[in-house]
Amino acid sequence: MSDKKTTSRSDKSQRTGDISRQVLARIEELGLKPIPRVYELWFRYFQADPEIVRAIDAHQGPLDEISCHKFYKRYLSETAVDDAIKKISDQLHQAINDIAAMMNSVKLATSEFGDTLVEVKDEIENAETLESLSEVISGIVEYTKQMVQKNQKLEVQLTSSLIQVADLRKSLDNVKKESMMDDLTGLANRKAFDKQIHDWVEETNILGGDLCLLMLDIDHFKEFNDAYGHQTGDQILRLVARTLTDGVKGRDLTARFGGEEFAIILPETSLPDSIKLAEALRRSLENKEVINKLTNKNLGRLTLSVGVAQYIIGESITDFIERADAAMYEAKNAGRNQVKAAAPPAG
Ligand code: GH3
Ligand code: MG
Ligand code: MG
Repeated sequence: MSDKKTTSRSDKSQRTGDISRQVLARIEELGLKPIPRVYELWFRYFQADPEIVRAIDAHQGPLDEISCHKFYKRYLSETAVDDAIKKISDQLHQAINDIAAMMNSVKLATSEFGDTLVEVKDEIENAETLESLSEVISGIVEYTKQMVQKNQKLEVQLTSSLIQVADLRKSLDNVKKESMMDDLTGLANRKAFDKQIHDWVEETNILGGDLCLLMLDIDHFKEFNDAYGHQTGDQILRLVARTLTDGVKGRDLTARFGGEEFAIILPETSLPDSIKLAEALRRSLENKEVINKLTNKNLGRLTLSVGVAQYIIGESITDFIERADAAMYEAKNAGRNQVKAAAPPAG
């Protein structure tokens, strides 16, 4: 039994060692620096993480530092964010414990001081000579001085702890904000989209009112990528993101749903108004000239196919998204560069 255990454990470390060797060999072969992110990405690849294997194997073009960084961001940074949040939370917890301990020691010192004052009062009442009274007073002056010094020290410590807590809270807010943002476009990411649509669907089910969803997909984006390269493709994604955010109101949520697909949630907006907005967005992109920043070359026109759906009370979020998505595919099938509205769900 124990033999088997030892064997399986050493098997595991042998496997880890094998993977490490494969990772380092591949990193060297690709001419990359073995920084932790690159190492972790390739480690997961050789561990046969299916998502990462699929993504890397399907990748066309060089596996350079930039593309490794992108893969890491897409597939592994979620855990990195969780780790960062956990680390800050732990530090926050520690700082709060320190403050609680300081507060306790202040309380203890204050109550000791109170006890001493009661004792001193007795001593004053019972003092028979001027000398003994003077001694009591010297004692209390000395003790008060010590108390003040102790309190000043505590105050300094307390202030520094409070500053530390404020800093940690700011870091936590930043990490949380970053974890909700798409790196490339600065739009809300899929996680933020999922949370927001959940909240607004819940609200609509309770309070009623209009809630609409647009699904927008760039037409023939693969051709752009293939013709002008991934970097220009990324520039185009940023341009589309900007066009969308410029065209919507403050409360609406514009998100990068995936690759070259975007989603906009429109609370308090009727279906006809949502269709109008979708049309306006489609037109404003169509009217933009796409110029490659690096070469100044005109890349022609970019178009969007858009699906619009209005939420129906009681409908599941999946069905709601699927109806908007189906309408978007209808727009593709009808020749692209157009807006289609989803029919209400059957039944
Ligand atoms: P359709 O009109 O049917 O939507 O055609 P399409 O070419 O836009 O759609 P398809 O789904 O065939 O290809 C989408 C392409 O989007 C494939 C991929 O190269 C590109 N893409 C996805 N994510 C990114 C990204 O982050 N950066 C870049 N540059 N390209 C991306
Ligand atoms: Mg597309
Ligand atoms: Mg697509």
